[in-house]
Amino acid sequence: MFKRILIANRGEIAMRILRCCHEMGIETVLACSKEDLDSLPAQFCTKCICIGPAPAAQSYLNENAILSAAKACRCDAIHPGYGFLSENAHFARMCEENNIVFIGPDSQTIRRMGDKQSARALMQKSGVPVVPGSGGILTDWHEAARIARKVGYPVLLKATAGGGGRGMRAAHNPSELRRAYEDAQAEAQSAFGSGALYLEKLIEHPRHIEVQILGDTRGNIIQLGERDCSMQRRNQKLMEEAPASLLSNFQRTAIRRAALKAARAAHYISAGTVEFVLDQKGKFYFIEMNTRIQVEHPVTEMVTGVDLVREQIRIAAGLPLSLKQSEVRICGHAIECRINAEDPARNFMPAPGEISFVHFPGGNGVRVESAIYPGAQISPYYDSMIAKIIVHAPGRLEAVRKMRAALGELTIEGVKTNISFLYLLMHNGDYLSGRFDTGFLGRQAKAIVRWGEESLKHRQKS
Ligand code: ADP
Ligand code: ADP
Ligand code: MG
Repeated sequence: MFKRILIANRGEIAMRILRCCHEMGIETVLACSKEDLDSLPAQFCTKCICIGPAPAAQSYLNENAILSAAKACRCDAIHPGYGFLSENAHFARMCEENNIVFIGPDSQTIRRMGDKQSARALMQKSGVPVVPGSGGILTDWHEAARIARKVGYPVLLKATAGGGGRGMRAAHNPSELRRAYEDAQAEAQSAFGSGALYLEKLIEHPRHIEVQILGDTRGNIIQLGERDCSMQRRNQKLMEEAPASLLSNFQRTAIRRAALKAARAAHYISAGTVEFVLDQKGKFYFIEMNTRIQVEHPVTEMVTGVDLVREQIRIAAGLPLSLKQSEVRICGHAIECRINAEDPARNFMPAPGEISFVHFPGGNGVRVESAIYPGAQISPYYDSMIAKIIVHAPGRLEAVRKMRAALGELTIEGVKTNISFLYLLMHNGDYLSGRFDTGFLGRQAKAIVRWGEESLKHRQKS
């Protein structure tokens, strides 16, 4: 087993990895930016190394600085968390060349699955259903128009290097296509350094269902059930649950099987996620595979009792999976809410600042993942997610009630947050009855915000 792991990340996921390492008797070196020297993980790690100034390009994305820190501190492995370098094949390759274990799949797998069009091609070849669309990278918008006519509008233009919901544009008719193509290409070029696009039919009102996978170096691959991540704003997840309660048993079995098939086709090693969209007729299609730990991994941990970060570390050290497929049991229902420092009244604009007071909920079945404390600075340089509240209960409605209570108790002062918004969402009739798709928040978010503002006014009056 590793003696010392370098954590190349920040915030709640750095804390999550650090706690797991310490539990396993592994020392931690935190590679952090100057901005994060007073952060919680910087205070609890075994050793902290500053790798550069606040902008991520000069610190958390600084491959040479991170690798040098790992070598200087004699770390055996690097855990990249999510975002930043977690799906960067070049960095994984650098680690391999320097005999430092990258905790994730090998660089070749990251490259193959990270190129979304080539992942799509591999799945198609392996018999995993993919969304109808282009067979390769598009040469220009004329080709896009030709394929769009064949598969039928609306269509979605997607960056093959895309991630985090960026580099994607929908076109509902031929007159929108050229603009969508150029916008998606420009955004992808500036965000990912590649403007290469492919095309998929836009599935209307889909659910986002994904399956957690673990694969070890001995060739064992298992799935740990699915999550429903349909509650999204601008293609970014806000709330996730496990299991996906609306699936029939037949669909559930089929989607889990398809995910296993996908992982086997990729000869997948480490923790990974196979993402699907489910259309209104109940048909599902592969969209991409994420070759890292996900933000929403705790909901799977709560219903399976498996520590996914621990498994990731064990797999990277060459150990076999701790459990067999037949030992995976899904028990109860779990929900996660992402708490962001943002202002719902101003179109969810990020709201950085200093945390003046924090009270976290607790109790049976309530889990908090966060790195904030009174006096902590929420930096404008990074993601606005500051905490995750996860609840686990025997059934979905009980989990909802637990989440309402937990959100009601959660108190964060000093910065604006989406806590009240999430609380109201937990009372929304369509959410409760499962009548929501990935476009739900796009249509309903404003009404939910207004509802909150009106009840506040009412209270102030009375
Ligand atoms: P998850 O399925 O784990 O929620 P997300 O798409 O929300 O995945 O990504 C997790 C984090 O990583 C978010 O902070 C997101 O902004 C960031 N992220 C994901 N992919 C990329 C990428 N290719 N480039 C930059 N940031 C990314
Ligand atoms: P990213 O790499 O940015 O996570 P994904 O391919 O996973 O990109 O897509 C992000 C989100 O966009 C999905 O969760 C889903 O809501 C939506 N989406 C992606 N492809 C389609 C599609 N073909 N039809 C409808 N929605 C889609
Ligand atoms: Mg995705």
